[in-house]
Amino acid sequence: TIRLAGRVGRIKPSPTLAVTARAQQLKAQGKDVIGLGAGEPDFDTPAHVKEAAIRAIREGFTKYTAVEGTPGLRRAICAKFERENALKFTPDQVLVSVGGKQSFYNLAQALLEEGDEAIIPAPYWVSYPDMVLLAGATPVIVSAGIEQAFKISPAQLEQAITAKTKLFVINSPSNPTGSVYTRSELAGLGEVLRRHPQVVIATDDMYEHILWMDEPFTNILNACPDLADRTMVLNGVSKAYAMTGWRIGYCAGPRPIITAMANIQSQSTSNATSIAQVAAEAALSGDQACIVPMVRAFKERHDYVVDRLNRLPGVRCLASQGAFYAFPDFRGAIKAAGAKDDLAMAEQILERAGVALVPGSAFGAPGYLRLSFATSMKTLEGALDRLEQFLSTG
Ligand code: PLP
Repeated sequence: TIRLAGRVGRIKPSPTLAVTARAQQLKAQGKDVIGLGAGEPDFDTPAHVKEAAIRAIREGFTKYTAVEGTPGLRRAICAKFERENALKFTPDQVLVSVGGKQSFYNLAQALLEEGDEAIIPAPYWVSYPDMVLLAGATPVIVSAGIEQAFKISPAQLEQAITAKTKLFVINSPSNPTGSVYTRSELAGLGEVLRRHPQVVIATDDMYEHILWMDEPFTNILNACPDLADRTMVLNGVSKAYAMTGWRIGYCAGPRPIITAMANIQSQSTSNATSIAQVAAEAALSGDQACIVPMVRAFKERHDYVVDRLNRLPGVRCLASQGAFYAFPDFRGAIKAAGAKDDLAMAEQILERAGVALVPGSAFGAPGYLRLSFATSMKTLEGALDRLEQFLSTG
């Protein structure tokens, strides 16, 4: 018999990918299923980005690069931080990785080990707790429900911090809720963190551009520049430029941590794909106008979806400020349907209404469902008609 490592038993495969797979399976069986599980823009990668990559192939830029990323891309990332975030980093404080996912994975591996705790606000992006577990550490979940707009308070953070806390993760705009912390809310969290110098802060800004609030985008480093010596800024091109398949993410922060992360990466994947790095450089340095129509479309769909969800019996959905997900509270509808929980409800909706949603439990928030609106208006209309029909007839 094969004996796998204990760490495998501690984690589960990504539930969002599992829902997408199940929906595809049903479709393959000829079932009419509308998939709202995916976490990627339905737009195409901008043409100038693709052209840059094609040129790179033609010119033979197809070999290993520096593990940390090409000098050109790292310079473009520093320029982006300065231009868009008023943050100053030097290229040696930047590590390019195989998607934002590897950036966080490297960070967890570089920082965490047995006995350490990492504070993760829930609802959370599904991968944070499992990557913390893979590093041998303990995820400490701090929950924020719909009544607090899915945002944790400084008092909750203070309560969760112990002598063992090594990492605090913040993701705004959030996957799965679309909630965005304001500058003053971030300042409030920063005030707590100032009292606990052993805590490294990871701000995952992946959805920075997919934002429609009045305030410009702010992360905790903007709100509290004095935390720069222990804040890691994570970002990537996947969502802003519809480049999920290219697999380029990046992280900037204090050099000792970046160097440790780069060492880990040098023993796993080495550099991110050379061609994709050229494409990412083109995305970050080129015309940013390509983002505008995408954000406009996401906002329009958001307004439509939130309005329709709030008309469903037993469903309540907050308007959000960014990302491309709605995270409705289905507790009333779950009860009315006599379903055991959100997992059973998602299963029922998939089997009987033909709509694939992700159960909130996957994000540490039972009783909710996540619906991605990174799909056409027509698809969304169809899905909401089905949900309406399903919930009103039972
Ligand atoms: N961070 C958040 C909050 C995300 O939602 C995702 C993707 O779903 C990522 C990071 C990772 O993105 P990628 O690895 O595709 O660049």
